[in-house]
Amino acid sequence: MRTQRTQVGIIGAGPAGLMLAHLLHLQGIESVVLEARTKEEVEGTIRAGVLEQGTVDVLRESGVGARMDREGQVHRGIEFRFNGQGHRINLHHLTGGKHVMVYAQHEVLIDLIEARLKSGGDLRFTVRDVQLHDIDTDSPKIRFRRHADGELEELVCDFVAGCDGFHGPSRLTIPASARREYQKSFPMGWLGVLVEAPPSSEELIYCRHERGFALVSTRSPEVQRLYLQVDATDDIREWSDDRIWSELHARLATHDGWTLKEGRIFQKNIVAMRSFVVEPMQYGRLFLAGDAAHIVPPTGAKGLNLAISDVCVLARGIAAFYRRNRSDLLQAYSNICLRRVWKAERFSNYMTSLLHRFPSHSPFEERVQLAELDYVTSSVVGAQTIAENYVGLPIEWEAPAPVTAAVAGH
Ligand SMILES: Cc1cc2nc3c(=O)[nH]c(=O)nc-3n(C[C@H](O)[C@H](O)[C@H](O)COP(=O)(O)OP(=O)(O)OC[C@H]3O[C@@H](n4cnc5c(N)ncnc54)[C@H](O)[C@@H]3O)c2cc1C
Repeated sequence: MRTQRTQVGIIGAGPAGLMLAHLLHLQGIESVVLEARTKEEVEGTIRAGVLEQGTVDVLRESGVGARMDREGQVHRGIEFRFNGQGHRINLHHLTGGKHVMVYAQHEVLIDLIEARLKSGGDLRFTVRDVQLHDIDTDSPKIRFRRHADGELEELVCDFVAGCDGFHGPSRLTIPASARREYQKSFPMGWLGVLVEAPPSSEELIYCRHERGFALVSTRSPEVQRLYLQVDATDDIREWSDDRIWSELHARLATHDGWTLKEGRIFQKNIVAMRSFVVEPMQYGRLFLAGDAAHIVPPTGAKGLNLAISDVCVLARGIAAFYRRNRSDLLQAYSNICLRRVWKAERFSNYMTSLLHRFPSHSPFEERVQLAELDYVTSSVVGAQTIAENYVGLPIEWEAPAPVTAAVAGH
Protein backbone atom coordinates (compact mmCIF):
# COMPACT_ATOMS: atom_id res chain seq x y z
CA MET A 1 0.00 0.00 0.00
CA ARG A 2 1.33 3.46 -0.91
CA THR A 3 2.04 5.48 2.25
CA GLN A 4 2.45 9.22 2.71
CA ARG A 5 3.07 11.34 5.85
CA THR A 6 1.57 14.67 6.83
CA GLN A 7 1.14 16.63 10.02
CA VAL A 8 -2.65 17.04 9.85
CA GLY A 9 -4.99 14.87 7.77
CA ILE A 10 -8.24 16.71 7.08
CA ILE A 11 -11.35 14.86 5.91
CA GLY A 12 -13.82 17.11 4.06
CA ALA A 13 -13.41 20.30 2.02
CA GLY A 14 -16.40 22.21 3.41
CA PRO A 15 -15.98 25.47 5.32
CA ALA A 16 -14.44 23.66 8.34
CA GLY A 17 -11.86 21.59 6.43
CA LEU A 18 -10.76 24.31 4.01
CA MET A 19 -10.52 27.01 6.67
CA LEU A 20 -8.52 24.71 8.94
CA ALA A 21 -6.09 23.90 6.13
CA HIS A 22 -5.71 27.61 5.40
CA LEU A 23 -5.11 28.61 9.05
CA LEU A 24 -2.56 25.79 9.49
CA HIS A 25 -0.77 26.82 6.29
CA LEU A 26 -0.41 30.37 7.66
CA GLN A 27 1.35 28.82 10.68
CA GLY A 28 3.65 26.74 8.47
CA ILE A 29 1.86 23.48 9.35
CA GLU A 30 1.39 20.94 6.57
CA SER A 31 -1.94 19.26 5.91
CA VAL A 32 -3.68 17.10 3.29
CA VAL A 33 -7.39 17.68 2.59
CA LEU A 34 -9.43 14.70 1.29
CA GLU A 35 -12.82 15.48 -0.25
CA ALA A 36 -15.34 13.01 -1.67
CA ARG A 37 -17.04 15.42 -4.11
CA THR A 38 -15.68 17.16 -7.21
CA LYS A 39 -14.41 20.76 -7.05
CA GLU A 40 -17.43 21.86 -9.13
CA GLU A 41 -19.87 20.18 -6.74
CA VAL A 42 -18.24 21.76 -3.68
CA GLU A 43 -18.21 25.19 -5.31
CA GLY A 44 -21.81 24.86 -6.53
CA THR A 45 -23.66 23.82 -3.35
CA ILE A 46 -25.95 26.63 -2.22
CA ARG A 47 -26.35 26.62 1.55
CA ALA A 48 -25.58 29.26 4.16
CA GLY A 49 -25.34 32.96 3.54
CA VAL A 50 -25.09 34.90 6.79
CA LEU A 51 -21.57 35.43 8.17
CA GLU A 52 -21.19 36.56 11.77
CA GLN A 53 -18.89 39.44 12.61
CA GLY A 54 -16.28 36.98 13.99
CA THR A 55 -16.32 34.91 10.78
CA VAL A 56 -15.91 38.06 8.69
CA ASP A 57 -12.95 39.11 10.87
CA VAL A 58 -11.26 35.69 10.55
CA LEU A 59 -11.68 35.64 6.74
CA ARG A 60 -10.29 39.17 6.49
CA GLU A 61 -7.39 38.72 8.91
CA SER A 62 -6.32 35.46 7.30
CA GLY A 63 -6.18 37.10 3.85
CA VAL A 64 -9.21 35.50 2.15
CA GLY A 65 -11.74 38.30 2.66
CA ALA A 66 -10.99 40.61 -0.30
CA ARG A 67 -13.79 39.37 -2.59
CA MET A 68 -16.19 39.14 0.36
CA ASP A 69 -15.47 42.81 1.12
CA ARG A 70 -16.09 43.75 -2.52
CA GLU A 71 -19.17 41.64 -3.21
CA GLY A 72 -20.71 40.82 0.19
CA GLN A 73 -23.46 42.93 1.67
CA VAL A 74 -23.12 44.39 5.15
CA HIS A 75 -26.40 44.08 7.07
CA ARG A 76 -26.77 46.30 10.12
CA GLY A 77 -30.27 45.14 11.04
CA ILE A 78 -32.88 42.42 10.63
CA GLU A 79 -36.66 42.62 10.59
CA PHE A 80 -39.06 40.54 12.66
CA ARG A 81 -42.48 40.59 11.02
CA PHE A 82 -45.68 39.49 12.75
CA ASN A 83 -49.34 40.55 12.74
CA GLY A 84 -48.73 42.15 9.35
CA GLN A 85 -46.15 44.61 10.69
CA GLY A 86 -42.37 44.81 10.47
CA HIS A 87 -40.13 45.57 13.48
CA ARG A 88 -36.46 46.34 12.88
CA ILE A 89 -33.75 45.08 15.23
CA ASN A 90 -30.79 47.40 14.85
CA LEU A 91 -27.87 44.97 15.17
CA HIS A 92 -25.27 47.68 14.74
CA HIS A 93 -26.60 49.98 17.43
CA LEU A 94 -27.45 47.23 19.92
CA THR A 95 -24.04 45.52 19.73
CA GLY A 96 -21.76 48.55 19.77
CA GLY A 97 -21.06 48.63 16.04
CA LYS A 98 -21.12 44.98 14.95
CA HIS A 99 -22.95 43.63 11.91
CA VAL A 100 -23.33 40.51 9.75
CA MET A 101 -22.19 40.03 6.15
CA VAL A 102 -24.43 38.33 3.59
CA TYR A 103 -21.99 36.40 1.37
CA ALA A 104 -22.92 32.93 0.18
CA GLN A 105 -21.18 29.86 1.62
CA HIS A 106 -20.19 28.62 -1.85
CA GLU A 107 -18.42 31.95 -2.51
CA VAL A 108 -16.44 31.46 0.73
CA LEU A 109 -15.54 27.97 -0.50
CA ILE A 110 -14.45 29.30 -3.92
CA ASP A 111 -12.16 31.81 -2.15
CA LEU A 112 -10.71 29.17 0.21
CA ILE A 113 -10.12 26.65 -2.60
CA GLU A 114 -8.38 29.33 -4.66
CA ALA A 115 -6.12 30.23 -1.71
CA ARG A 116 -5.32 26.57 -1.09
CA LEU A 117 -4.43 25.85 -4.72
CA LYS A 118 -2.40 29.08 -5.05
CA SER A 119 -0.33 28.15 -2.00
CA GLY A 120 0.40 24.73 -3.51
CA GLY A 121 -1.44 22.98 -0.66
CA ASP A 122 -2.52 19.35 -1.01
CA LEU A 123 -6.28 19.21 -1.73
CA ARG A 124 -7.71 16.07 -3.33
CA PHE A 125 -11.23 15.88 -4.70
CA THR A 126 -13.28 12.75 -5.54
CA VAL A 127 -11.51 10.50 -3.01
CA ARG A 128 -13.30 7.27 -2.10
CA ASP A 129 -13.55 4.78 0.78
CA VAL A 130 -12.11 7.03 3.49
CA GLN A 131 -11.45 5.07 6.69
CA LEU A 132 -9.76 6.14 9.91
CA HIS A 133 -7.37 3.88 11.82
CA ASP A 134 -5.34 4.07 15.05
CA ILE A 135 -6.95 7.34 16.14
CA ASP A 136 -6.13 6.58 19.78
CA THR A 137 -2.38 6.35 19.01
CA ASP A 138 0.25 9.03 18.23
CA SER A 139 0.14 8.04 14.54
CA PRO A 140 -3.47 8.07 13.36
CA LYS A 141 -3.96 6.98 9.76
CA ILE A 142 -6.44 7.68 6.99
CA ARG A 143 -6.87 5.06 4.27
CA PHE A 144 -8.56 6.10 1.03
CA ARG A 145 -8.63 5.67 -2.74
CA ARG A 146 -7.84 8.63 -5.06
CA HIS A 147 -10.85 7.69 -7.19
CA ALA A 148 -13.33 4.84 -7.50
CA ASP A 149 -10.88 2.43 -9.19
CA GLY A 150 -7.75 3.66 -7.36
CA GLU A 151 -5.56 1.58 -5.07
CA LEU A 152 -5.94 1.85 -1.32
CA GLU A 153 -3.45 4.45 0.01
CA GLU A 154 -2.47 5.38 3.55
CA LEU A 155 -1.89 8.83 4.99
CA VAL A 156 0.01 8.70 8.30
CA CYS A 157 -0.71 11.82 10.37
CA ASP A 158 0.08 13.45 13.71
CA PHE A 159 -3.55 14.57 13.96
CA VAL A 160 -6.77 13.91 12.04
CA ALA A 161 -9.50 16.55 11.68
CA GLY A 162 -12.95 15.13 10.95
CA CYS A 163 -14.53 17.99 8.97
CA ASP A 164 -16.74 15.68 6.91
CA GLY A 165 -20.17 17.03 7.82
CA PHE A 166 -23.06 15.24 9.50
CA HIS A 167 -22.98 12.13 7.28
CA GLY A 168 -19.18 11.65 7.11
CA PRO A 169 -17.35 8.68 8.64
CA SER A 170 -15.24 10.51 11.26
CA ARG A 171 -17.73 10.80 14.10
CA LEU A 172 -18.70 7.13 13.88
CA THR A 173 -15.04 6.11 14.27
CA ILE A 174 -15.26 7.19 17.92
CA PRO A 175 -16.40 4.12 19.86
CA ALA A 176 -20.07 4.38 20.83
CA SER A 177 -19.11 3.96 24.49
CA ALA A 178 -16.93 7.09 24.31
CA ARG A 179 -19.43 9.48 22.73
CA ARG A 180 -22.74 10.89 23.82
CA GLU A 181 -25.20 12.27 21.29
CA TYR A 182 -27.91 14.84 21.99
CA GLN A 183 -30.56 15.51 19.39
CA LYS A 184 -33.93 17.01 18.65
CA SER A 185 -36.05 16.89 15.50
CA PHE A 186 -38.43 19.73 14.75
CA PRO A 187 -41.87 18.90 13.33
CA MET A 188 -41.32 21.02 10.21
CA GLY A 189 -39.00 21.55 7.24
CA TRP A 190 -37.79 24.58 5.30
CA LEU A 191 -38.63 24.86 1.64
CA GLY A 192 -35.91 27.05 0.13
CA VAL A 193 -36.04 28.66 -3.32
CA LEU A 194 -33.50 30.60 -5.36
CA VAL A 195 -35.11 33.30 -7.45
CA GLU A 196 -33.83 35.56 -10.25
CA ALA A 197 -35.09 38.87 -8.91
CA PRO A 198 -33.85 42.07 -7.28
CA PRO A 199 -34.01 42.20 -3.45
CA SER A 200 -37.44 42.82 -1.93
CA SER A 201 -35.83 44.24 1.19
CA GLU A 202 -32.45 45.66 2.16
CA GLU A 203 -32.37 43.43 5.26
CA LEU A 204 -33.47 39.89 6.09
CA ILE A 205 -37.12 39.49 7.11
CA TYR A 206 -37.99 36.77 9.66
CA CYS A 207 -41.77 36.43 9.50
CA ARG A 208 -44.07 34.67 11.94
CA HIS A 209 -47.54 33.97 10.52
CA GLU A 210 -50.49 31.74 11.42
CA ARG A 211 -49.81 29.82 8.18
CA GLY A 212 -46.18 29.27 9.20
CA PHE A 213 -42.77 30.93 9.12
CA ALA A 214 -41.28 32.69 6.06
CA LEU A 215 -37.83 34.20 5.51
CA VAL A 216 -36.79 36.76 2.94
CA SER A 217 -33.05 36.51 2.43
CA THR A 218 -30.67 37.41 -0.38
CA ARG A 219 -27.60 36.05 -2.12
CA SER A 220 -26.70 38.88 -4.51
CA PRO A 221 -28.35 41.91 -6.17
CA GLU A 222 -29.69 39.49 -8.82
CA VAL A 223 -30.49 36.35 -6.79
CA GLN A 224 -32.83 36.10 -3.81
CA ARG A 225 -33.19 33.25 -1.29
CA LEU A 226 -36.69 32.75 0.11
CA TYR A 227 -37.84 30.15 2.62
CA LEU A 228 -41.18 28.79 3.76
CA GLN A 229 -41.96 26.58 6.72
CA VAL A 230 -43.53 23.37 5.35
CA ASP A 231 -44.54 20.04 6.75
CA ALA A 232 -41.54 17.83 7.56
CA THR A 233 -43.00 15.09 5.36
CA ASP A 234 -43.83 17.31 2.33
CA ASP A 235 -42.53 16.26 -1.07
CA ILE A 236 -41.05 19.11 -3.15
CA ARG A 237 -43.22 17.95 -6.08
CA GLU A 238 -46.29 19.08 -4.10
CA TRP A 239 -44.97 22.65 -4.24
CA SER A 240 -45.55 24.22 -7.65
CA ASP A 241 -44.06 27.68 -8.26
CA ASP A 242 -47.57 29.20 -8.11
CA ARG A 243 -48.25 27.59 -4.76
CA ILE A 244 -44.92 28.86 -3.40
CA TRP A 245 -45.59 32.45 -4.52
CA SER A 246 -49.13 32.45 -3.21
CA GLU A 247 -47.96 31.16 0.19
CA LEU A 248 -45.09 33.67 0.36
CA HIS A 249 -47.47 36.54 -0.44
CA ALA A 250 -50.01 35.40 2.15
CA ARG A 251 -47.45 35.04 4.96
CA LEU A 252 -45.41 38.16 4.22
CA ALA A 253 -48.34 40.56 3.61
CA THR A 254 -48.11 43.84 5.52
CA HIS A 255 -50.43 46.78 6.14
CA ASP A 256 -47.87 49.30 4.78
CA GLY A 257 -47.83 48.47 1.07
CA TRP A 258 -44.56 46.47 1.06
CA THR A 259 -44.34 44.15 -1.95
CA LEU A 260 -42.47 40.92 -2.59
CA LYS A 261 -40.57 40.97 -5.90
CA GLU A 262 -41.15 37.84 -7.96
CA GLY A 263 -38.84 36.23 -10.53
CA ARG A 264 -37.96 32.88 -12.06
CA ILE A 265 -37.50 30.14 -9.45
CA PHE A 266 -34.44 28.20 -10.59
CA GLN A 267 -33.84 25.92 -7.61
CA LYS A 268 -36.03 24.55 -4.84
CA ASN A 269 -35.51 21.99 -2.08
CA ILE A 270 -36.75 21.03 1.37
CA VAL A 271 -34.38 20.65 4.34
CA ALA A 272 -35.12 18.96 7.65
CA MET A 273 -34.89 20.98 10.86
CA ARG A 274 -32.87 19.34 13.59
CA SER A 275 -30.43 19.97 16.39
CA PHE A 276 -27.58 17.60 17.17
CA VAL A 277 -24.45 17.67 19.35
CA VAL A 278 -21.87 14.96 20.01
CA GLU A 279 -19.75 15.12 23.14
CA PRO A 280 -16.81 15.13 23.35
CA MET A 281 -15.62 16.56 20.02
CA GLN A 282 -12.29 14.78 20.38
CA TYR A 283 -11.13 11.19 20.78
CA GLY A 284 -7.42 10.42 20.91
CA ARG A 285 -5.88 12.30 18.00
CA LEU A 286 -9.16 12.74 16.11
CA PHE A 287 -10.80 16.17 16.37
CA LEU A 288 -14.31 16.76 15.02
CA ALA A 289 -15.22 20.21 13.69
CA GLY A 290 -18.35 21.77 12.16
CA ASP A 291 -21.37 19.71 11.14
CA ALA A 292 -19.48 16.48 11.91
CA ALA A 293 -19.93 17.40 15.58
CA HIS A 294 -23.09 19.49 15.67
CA ILE A 295 -26.11 20.59 13.63
CA VAL A 296 -28.41 23.53 14.25
CA PRO A 297 -31.73 24.38 12.61
CA PRO A 298 -30.96 27.19 10.10
CA THR A 299 -33.16 29.82 11.83
CA GLY A 300 -30.25 31.29 13.78
CA ALA A 301 -27.81 31.21 10.79
CA LYS A 302 -25.17 29.56 12.94
CA GLY A 303 -23.98 26.34 11.20
CA LEU A 304 -21.25 27.75 8.96
CA ASN A 305 -20.17 30.17 11.66
CA LEU A 306 -19.74 27.39 14.21
CA ALA A 307 -17.64 25.43 11.71
CA ILE A 308 -15.31 28.44 11.40
CA SER A 309 -15.07 29.07 15.16
CA ASP A 310 -14.30 25.37 15.85
CA VAL A 311 -11.38 25.34 13.43
CA CYS A 312 -10.00 28.63 14.77
CA VAL A 313 -9.73 26.97 18.20
CA LEU A 314 -8.32 23.78 16.66
CA ALA A 315 -5.71 25.56 14.52
CA ARG A 316 -4.54 27.50 17.56
CA GLY A 317 -4.23 24.31 19.61
CA ILE A 318 -2.30 22.51 16.87
CA ALA A 319 0.02 25.51 16.40
CA ALA A 320 0.70 25.61 20.17
CA PHE A 321 1.58 21.89 20.01
CA TYR A 322 4.18 22.34 17.25
CA ARG A 323 5.52 25.80 18.16
CA ARG A 324 5.49 25.75 21.94
CA ASN A 325 5.29 22.08 22.74
CA ARG A 326 1.98 22.72 24.52
CA SER A 327 -0.78 20.11 24.35
CA ASP A 328 -3.09 21.69 26.94
CA LEU A 329 -5.00 23.73 24.33
CA LEU A 330 -5.66 20.61 22.27
CA GLN A 331 -6.79 18.76 25.37
CA ALA A 332 -9.21 21.61 26.13
CA TYR A 333 -10.46 21.77 22.48
CA SER A 334 -13.75 19.97 23.08
CA ASN A 335 -14.64 21.90 26.25
CA ILE A 336 -13.79 25.27 24.71
CA CYS A 337 -15.84 24.60 21.56
CA LEU A 338 -18.81 22.97 23.27
CA ARG A 339 -19.41 26.01 25.45
CA ARG A 340 -19.96 28.13 22.33
CA VAL A 341 -21.72 25.33 20.45
CA TRP A 342 -24.35 24.93 23.16
CA LYS A 343 -25.02 28.68 23.21
CA ALA A 344 -25.54 28.58 19.43
CA GLU A 345 -27.82 25.53 19.89
CA ARG A 346 -29.76 27.51 22.51
CA PHE A 347 -30.15 30.53 20.21
CA SER A 348 -31.09 28.46 17.14
CA ASN A 349 -33.65 26.54 19.20
CA TYR A 350 -35.01 29.82 20.59
CA MET A 351 -35.32 31.48 17.16
CA THR A 352 -37.03 28.37 15.78
CA SER A 353 -39.51 28.29 18.68
CA LEU A 354 -40.11 32.03 18.45
CA LEU A 355 -40.92 32.19 14.76
CA HIS A 356 -42.49 28.91 13.63
CA ARG A 357 -45.95 27.55 13.89
CA PHE A 358 -45.95 24.34 15.92
CA PRO A 359 -48.78 21.85 15.32
CA SER A 360 -48.82 21.09 19.07
CA HIS A 361 -49.22 24.73 20.16
CA SER A 362 -52.37 25.56 22.12
CA PRO A 363 -54.01 29.00 21.69
CA PHE A 364 -52.32 29.92 24.99
CA GLU A 365 -48.87 29.06 23.64
CA GLU A 366 -49.56 31.04 20.46
CA ARG A 367 -50.38 34.13 22.52
CA VAL A 368 -47.19 33.66 24.56
CA GLN A 369 -45.18 33.40 21.31
CA LEU A 370 -46.67 36.70 20.10
CA ALA A 371 -45.99 38.30 23.48
CA GLU A 372 -42.37 37.17 23.25
CA LEU A 373 -42.07 38.73 19.78
CA ASP A 374 -43.66 41.92 21.08
CA TYR A 375 -41.17 41.92 23.98
CA VAL A 376 -37.99 41.40 21.95
CA THR A 377 -39.00 44.07 19.43
CA SER A 378 -40.07 46.68 22.00
CA SER A 379 -37.62 46.24 24.88
CA VAL A 380 -33.98 47.29 24.40
CA VAL A 381 -32.81 44.48 26.67
CA GLY A 382 -34.95 41.94 24.77
CA ALA A 383 -33.71 43.16 21.38
CA GLN A 384 -30.13 43.24 22.61
CA THR A 385 -30.03 39.52 23.41
CA ILE A 386 -31.26 38.78 19.87
CA ALA A 387 -28.70 41.17 18.36
CA GLU A 388 -25.76 39.92 20.45
CA ASN A 389 -26.41 36.30 19.52
CA TYR A 390 -27.25 37.02 15.87
CA VAL A 391 -23.99 38.86 15.15
CA GLY A 392 -22.25 36.04 17.01
CA LEU A 393 -20.81 35.54 20.46
CA PRO A 394 -17.04 35.99 20.68
CA ILE A 395 -14.78 33.02 20.00
CA GLU A 396 -13.37 31.86 23.33
CA TRP A 397 -9.79 30.67 23.34
CA GLU A 398 -9.41 29.26 26.85
CA ALA A 399 -11.90 27.94 29.39
CA PRO A 400 -13.15 31.33 30.73
CA ALA A 401 -14.12 32.41 34.27
CA PRO A 402 -17.70 31.36 35.04
CA VAL A 403 -19.20 34.87 35.09
CA THR A 404 -17.94 38.15 33.74
CA ALA A 405 -17.44 41.11 36.04
CA ALA A 406 -20.13 43.06 34.18
CA VAL A 407 -22.71 40.38 34.97
CA ALA A 408 -21.66 39.70 38.55
CA GLY A 409 -21.32 43.41 39.33
CA HIS A 410 -17.80 43.40 40.81
C1 LIG B 1 -30.52 25.28 3.58
C2 LIG B 1 -29.41 25.58 4.53
C3 LIG B 1 -29.23 26.90 4.94
C4 LIG B 1 -28.20 27.20 5.83
N1 LIG B 1 -28.04 28.51 6.22
C5 LIG B 1 -27.02 28.83 7.04
C6 LIG B 1 -26.74 30.20 7.37
O1 LIG B 1 -27.42 31.15 6.92
N2 LIG B 1 -25.68 30.46 8.18
C7 LIG B 1 -24.90 29.45 8.66
O2 LIG B 1 -23.95 29.75 9.40
N3 LIG B 1 -25.13 28.14 8.36
C8 LIG B 1 -26.14 27.79 7.55
N4 LIG B 1 -26.33 26.48 7.18
C9 LIG B 1 -25.45 25.44 7.71
C10 LIG B 1 -24.11 25.36 6.98
O3 LIG B 1 -24.30 25.23 5.60
C11 LIG B 1 -23.29 24.15 7.53
O4 LIG B 1 -23.31 24.22 8.93
C12 LIG B 1 -21.86 24.17 7.01
O5 LIG B 1 -21.80 23.74 5.67
C13 LIG B 1 -20.96 23.22 7.86
O6 LIG B 1 -19.68 23.17 7.29
P1 LIG B 1 -18.79 21.86 7.46
O7 LIG B 1 -17.49 22.15 6.78
O8 LIG B 1 -18.75 21.46 8.88
O9 LIG B 1 -19.58 20.70 6.73
P2 LIG B 1 -20.01 20.55 5.21
O10 LIG B 1 -20.24 21.86 4.57
O11 LIG B 1 -21.10 19.54 5.20
O12 LIG B 1 -18.70 19.92 4.52
C14 LIG B 1 -18.32 18.59 4.73
C15 LIG B 1 -17.55 18.10 3.53
O13 LIG B 1 -17.08 16.76 3.80
C16 LIG B 1 -17.25 15.99 2.63
N5 LIG B 1 -17.34 14.57 2.98
C17 LIG B 1 -18.37 13.91 3.55
N6 LIG B 1 -18.09 12.60 3.67
C18 LIG B 1 -16.85 12.42 3.18
C19 LIG B 1 -16.01 11.29 3.03
N7 LIG B 1 -16.43 10.06 3.39
N8 LIG B 1 -14.79 11.46 2.47
C20 LIG B 1 -14.36 12.69 2.09
N9 LIG B 1 -15.13 13.81 2.20
C21 LIG B 1 -16.36 13.67 2.74
C22 LIG B 1 -18.53 16.53 2.00
O14 LIG B 1 -18.59 16.22 0.62
C23 LIG B 1 -18.42 18.02 2.28
O15 LIG B 1 -17.80 18.73 1.21
C24 LIG B 1 -27.35 26.16 6.31
C25 LIG B 1 -27.53 24.84 5.90
C26 LIG B 1 -28.55 24.55 5.01
C27 LIG B 1 -28.73 23.11 4.57
